[in-house]
Amino acid sequence: MPLPADLPTPLTPIQDPVLSRAGVELRLKRDDLLHPTVPGNKWRKLTPNLEHALAEGHTRLVTFGGAYSTHLRATAAAARVLGLSSVGVVRGEELADRPRNPSLAAAEADGMQLEFVARGAYRELVRDLGRPLAQRWGRCLVLPEGGSNALAVRGTAALPAELGDLDGRDTVCCAVGTGGTLAGIAAGLPPGARALGVAVLRGEGYLEEEVAALHRAAYGRTFANWRIDHGHHGGGYGKVPAALEEFAAGFGERHGIGVERRYVAKALQAVYGLAGTAALPPGSRVTLVVTGLPAGPGAAGTGLSRS
Ligand SMILES: *Cc1c(COP(=O)(O)O)cnc(C)c1O
Repeated sequence: MPLPADLPTPLTPIQDPVLSRAGVELRLKRDDLLHPTVPGNKWRKLTPNLEHALAEGHTRLVTFGGAYSTHLRATAAAARVLGLSSVGVVRGEELADRPRNPSLAAAEADGMQLEFVARGAYRELVRDLGRPLAQRWGRCLVLPEGGSNALAVRGTAALPAELGDLDGRDTVCCAVGTGGTLAGIAAGLPPGARALGVAVLRGEGYLEEEVAALHRAAYGRTFANWRIDHGHHGGGYGKVPAALEEFAAGFGERHGIGVERRYVAKALQAVYGLAGTAALPPGSRVTLVVTGLPAGPGAAGTGLSRS
């Protein structure tokens, strides 16, 4: 394993009267504790790609992300540990001359070379996996935006085996950005159990197609044991409405767990919102995958940071 990690991550039962009344049991799968610099689903998705890069003798990784991309930051950290060089293509030309936000500053501190491109050009580059710029970078392994490819899906598919026996009452829930994590979890579930993704961006429709495409790429087939909730994105990617902030801070205080806001808080709020409805009927056991850590120094564990 190229990046040693603390596996399996803990399963934490959550006692909450709101959920008890709805007849729903909740456990947290603490993937936020997986690795100190390559947390959660980023570790699960990157590790098989890093193994592939090393096996193929690559010395450079190239990937894509927005200004707050956890994937860029995780890729930079992983590359550094493995002695690989890394290039991050960042959406937004105008960011080149601005002071770096903490996420990009951390990536740069880990040696990632940042290339800022205009939004239109960025879209095209992501679609072509960077081919128009490939000459600049020389021989490299290109990872898609968010790191979601067939290898990443197979990496995440190992997660359900860490959850003990699962059956027809089980739903494994995670936030959905690019869909790689959900695709892997669904593929790794035993018969009867289901996966519920919670979209964190306003992606009605196209995310389902992304997940199905990842399934075809990784397994040559599709799966019918998952679905995506589109009712809890809070207005779009990176948007944290006051009610969500209050919910996440309250949960963090009651249970002593820092809740990452862009993804994890939305998935958690969806579980509370859906508990007892047809989506999560009484008798359900939900395992929420805590895919990452709150951003910012000292934020982990406080439950008070706004990321
Ligand atoms: C990147 C990220 C996700 C999204 O994962 P996808 O595989 O892109 O859907 C979810 N949660 C956290 C904390 C993340 O950093």
